[in-house]
Amino acid sequence: MSARNRSCPRCKAPLQGYVDECPSCGFEKPVALPWHVYALMALMFVAAMWFLIDLDAIARAILAVREGLGSM
Ligand SMILES: [Zn+2]
Repeated sequence: MSARNRSCPRCKAPLQGYVDECPSCGFEKPVALPWHVYALMALMFVAAMWFLIDLDAIARAILAVREGLGSM
């Protein structure tokens, strides 16, 4: 299977590029995504997790400061 000439695994209709579903029969994900898409998704996931953890740390710091001010 070459990158330029792909076809649907169900109806064998020719597919252009990376389509979500076959335009002929509606078969979902007829083309396997290239490795860099998964790498990008993993990178975005790691970035999102890091961002969430960072926000949580900031929120805890703010709460700690508020508690400190309230107890004074
Ligand atoms: Zn198809």
